[in-house]
Amino acid sequence: MLRKVEPETERVVTETRQRFNQAVRRHLRDETRLHLTSGGERGDERDVRAVRVAVTAGIPEELEDQQFDDGLALALALAPLTRLLEEAHVGLSSLIPPVARLYDREDFVDAFADVGPTLEEARDSIAEMLKEASRANVLGQIFAIRDDVLGVYRFDPPRQPSWDDSDDANARVELFWGVIGLVSRLLGVSVEGLTVKVLAHELAHAYTHVGADADGRRWGTTAFQRTDRALLEGLAQYYTCRVLERLGKQAPGAMDAYEKLLPHQPAIYRTHLGWLENHSPEEVRDAMLTIRCRGAGSVAEFEHLLSEAHSRRRNR
Ligand SMILES: [Zn+2]
Repeated sequence: MLRKVEPETERVVTETRQRFNQAVRRHLRDETRLHLTSGGERGDERDVRAVRVAVTAGIPEELEDQQFDDGLALALALAPLTRLLEEAHVGLSSLIPPVARLYDREDFVDAFADVGPTLEEARDSIAEMLKEASRANVLGQIFAIRDDVLGVYRFDPPRQPSWDDSDDANARVELFWGVIGLVSRLLGVSVEGLTVKVLAHELAHAYTHVGADADGRRWGTTAFQRTDRALLEGLAQYYTCRVLERLGKQAPGAMDAYEKLLPHQPAIYRTHLGWLENHSPEEVRDAMLTIRCRGAGSVAEFEHLLSEAHSRRRNR
């Protein structure tokens, strides 16, 4: 199914990355006040090279091994048409009653005697196809994988693990254009919007990990690796949401993609919802910087820091 995604998608994903790479980084920098290069005089220019973003045909390893039941072959072939079928079903359902009313007219009956039953038959066939397509639960299968599947944030593990290792982690991002193309179709969101969402998410991992604070401190790679996945994904999702809000109309469809994707993703991709609702960006940032200094963190520890930051602010 991934191999059948229109090859055109690669160009769209590549161009969207090009167009939004700098804007996404600028907003991440403003939001986290972390820098991918420390002490560089021309910070912005060097930033581009610090974390490369590649667009690859890639099917993430975990998806490569995903097995679908043979009995689902037809469902899988229909699944990418789900959105179109749904739209057609809605369109036909609203067309049928007014057309039926035209049967009062003799001239209509003369010209279009068969059209009513034909439309009804089409609507029923579409409903059957939708039922078949839903059996494959492709989105469910894709997001049953606990890792990022639309893109990936990669880095090299340190040669000598230690708590404060801040070697060059060779941080980099890959966007999987095939998965982005397929998922955008299944969700009914634009390829551009989904690409910006994934770009922001993966770069947010990079900023929270190798971004340097005002004192040049980063998150040690060993500590980052040993941190709760739910906390790492929570932070990436939190900053994705903040960045997409800042981008607003500049990146049409990106917030839509984020919102429509959310319910399909594993729970660890929704850890941040309470932070968005109950805490200011300053509180989240304080807690993030503190947990980075402490080493490997857990969600419980982070949320404790959040409530501490909250009461400090209230008492001021
Ligand atoms: Zn992630």
